[in-house]
Amino acid sequence: MKFDYSAAEPAPRRSAHRIVLIVALCGVGIAALMSRETSANRHMPDSAMAPMLLDGDNAARYDESIQSALTDSLAVPQASEWTNIKVRSGDTLSTIFDAQGLPPDEWMALLKLGGDTLELKRLKSGEEIKIRREGDQLQELIYALDELRTLNVRRVDDQFEAVTLTAEIEHRQAQAAGTITSSLFNDGARAGLTDRMVMELAEIFGYDVDFALDLRQGDRFAVVYDELYKGDKRIRLGDILAAEFVNQGKTYRAIRHVGADGRVAYYTPEGQSLRKAFIRTPLDVCRISSPFNMRRRHPILNTIRAHKGVDYAASAGTPIKAVGDAKVAFVGNKNGFGRVVVLQHGSQYETLYAHMSRFRPGLSVGQRVSQGQVIGYVGSSGLATAPHLHFEFHIGNKVVNPVTVAMPRANPISGSELAKFKLSSKTMTAVLDQVNAGRMAAMAEPATAKTVTR
Ligand SMILES: [Zn+2]
Repeated sequence: MKFDYSAAEPAPRRSAHRIVLIVALCGVGIAALMSRETSANRHMPDSAMAPMLLDGDNAARYDESIQSALTDSLAVPQASEWTNIKVRSGDTLSTIFDAQGLPPDEWMALLKLGGDTLELKRLKSGEEIKIRREGDQLQELIYALDELRTLNVRRVDDQFEAVTLTAEIEHRQAQAAGTITSSLFNDGARAGLTDRMVMELAEIFGYDVDFALDLRQGDRFAVVYDELYKGDKRIRLGDILAAEFVNQGKTYRAIRHVGADGRVAYYTPEGQSLRKAFIRTPLDVCRISSPFNMRRRHPILNTIRAHKGVDYAASAGTPIKAVGDAKVAFVGNKNGFGRVVVLQHGSQYETLYAHMSRFRPGLSVGQRVSQGQVIGYVGSSGLATAPHLHFEFHIGNKVVNPVTVAMPRANPISGSELAKFKLSSKTMTAVLDQVNAGRMAAMAEPATAKTVTR
C-alpha cells in the first residue's frame, strides 16, 4: 500500500495579498525578501561611506549621519548574501560548514542551542540549507524542518538564537464522485482519489458492503474530504469528512466524528455506528471463485459435499485478517482444510479460515487478536486446487452465510455528543446532496457528461 501524499502543482499566485501572506508565513519567503533588500543596500554608492577630514560643525554633522546610517542598517540585516547549500549524501553540518570555510566553533555553538537545531544532525540528501555569513562568522541560517516548519537561526549579540516558524495551514473542502465501471481502485483514481483514500472508503463501508463480492457496475460513490494548503500550495489530502456509497441501489452514508476522547469514527447521519462487531471480508482485494453453496460437487473429491463457507480466490500470500476481536481457538492442520485458524468471538460466534500457506508467526491458541489483525496468508494447503481462502462463519453451532448474515453493530454516538454530531451531520448531508445534484445535472447534459465532479 503506497500512501500518496504528493503535492499538487502549485497554483498561480492569485493576488498581492496572497504573496504577502506567503512571505509572512514562510521563513524562506522572509529570506527571499530580505536578500532582495540587502542586495539593494549593497548598491549604495561606496562614496557614501568614504572617510572625510572633519572639524567643528562638520564633525557633529558627520556623527549625525553615522548615527542615522547605523539606525538605517538596523532596519535590514547586514549587507551579505545568502548562500543556498544543497545537502548531498554523506554531508553533515560540520562538513558543510567546513566547505564554506566556517570554523567548527560555529556549528558547535549552533547545535548547543538544542531543540529543533538538533534536526541539523540528521540532514538528508536533497535538503537545502540557506546561510548568510560575515567573514568567518555565521549570521543567519534557514532550514526547512518539514513541509510546514522552518528553523531560523540568527546571530544576536554574538550568540545564536533559534526560532521555528510554522506556516499556517488552511483546510479546504474538496469533493469527488464517481461510478463503478471496473473496480473501486480504478474508478476511485479516475475521480481523483488517492489509493489511501480508496482504502479508507472501503474500510468505512466495509461493514455493510463486501467490496469483493457485492460491488456492481453502476454502483456510485461520493466523497467529501479535507485538503491541506500552505498558501496556494496543496500539501496533501486530509481526512474523509463524509462519504456515500450506493451499492446495488442501496445508499450508505458515513459522517466523520471525533469523539470527546479524540477517537475518530464514522457514523450514519443519524449517529449509528458504521462499525460492526465483524467485518465482511477477511481479505483486502480479491475476487470470489465460489459463492456460498450448501450443495455442490467438490472439485477434488468429486462428490456432493456441503460447502459451508465462502471461497475467496486470491493470490498466494495475500494477508488474511481476523474479521472481529477474538481469542484464537485453533491453529494447525485439519485434513482437507490444510492449515486452519479458528477464532472465537465471545461465546456465540466463531470464524474459520482454511487452506493457508502459513500462519502469522507466533500465533497460538488462547492468544487475543483484534479486528483487522493479520492471522495468516492465503495458500492452497489441504484439498485445494488453487490458492484461495475458505472462510466459515458460525453462530452457536450453526454455520451461516457470512455474506448475508446480519452483523451486530458497535455502539452509537453517546447522548452527550449526539447534539454536536447532528449539527455537522446536517451540514455534511447537505454537501453530499449537492454532490449528487451536480452529478445528476452533469448526466442530464450529454455534451458535458461527467461522472466526476471535482
Ligand atoms: Zn471452500
